[in-house]
Amino acid sequence: MKTIGLIGGMSWESTVSYYQIINETIKEQLGGLHSAKIILYSVDFAEIEEQQSEGEWDKVAVILADAAMCLEQAGADYIVICSNTVHKVVPYIQKEIKIPVIHIAETTAEVLKKNKVKKAGLLGTKYTMTEDFLKEKIELSGIEVIIPDEKDIETVNDIIFDELCLGKIRDESRRECIRIIDSLKAAGAEGVILGCTEIGLLISQEDSPIPIYDTTQIHANAVAMRAI
Ligand code: GLU
Repeated sequence: MKTIGLIGGMSWESTVSYYQIINETIKEQLGGLHSAKIILYSVDFAEIEEQQSEGEWDKVAVILADAAMCLEQAGADYIVICSNTVHKVVPYIQKEIKIPVIHIAETTAEVLKKNKVKKAGLLGTKYTMTEDFLKEKIELSGIEVIIPDEKDIETVNDIIFDELCLGKIRDESRRECIRIIDSLKAAGAEGVILGCTEIGLLISQEDSPIPIYDTTQIHANAVAMRAI
């Protein structure tokens, strides 16, 4: 079995989900007492969030590349970053290490393609929704990605940072997200990408009028399958 190097803590609420899904997948596949070989490097999210909001992405890159180098030296076979947003700095991290970073958008695009989705809505942080680093990887697979309007981008971003990353799950915010998914559906989305690793804590398939593609579930599942 390969050893998975997890970079977590962004936020730790969703790193818990990664740990659980990876282990459940290994148990399902191998049975008995099998569990995943994981080395976790968990960062202080306050430091990362501060640099993100100040646009200091170089500093985010240095912190995460340092974490990736530690995991490589500790014996990880590949790196898994438990956040969509910081995938913005994956090109820099990858240059600093020899082992691969398993990209969250590439694993998600594979599942969307398998399900023959041609047009997908995207929910995530404002960085993920408005910038190209994640969208372009999905669009490379021939899938059109659409995002909410400006006001709803702010709404989803606030729900992520002010609530979900702090472990607050509110019915009112769930209703807001469902309303936003409805508008993406009206604009032609056949499915919605939960492109933030905490959104799955708020929204599940039964809440959504269209199929959900939860990046946490998809990424964690894919990296566990790769280990065996
Ligand atoms: N976990 C989030 C994501 O998947 C947001 C937190 C962050 O900014 O890293 O994008």
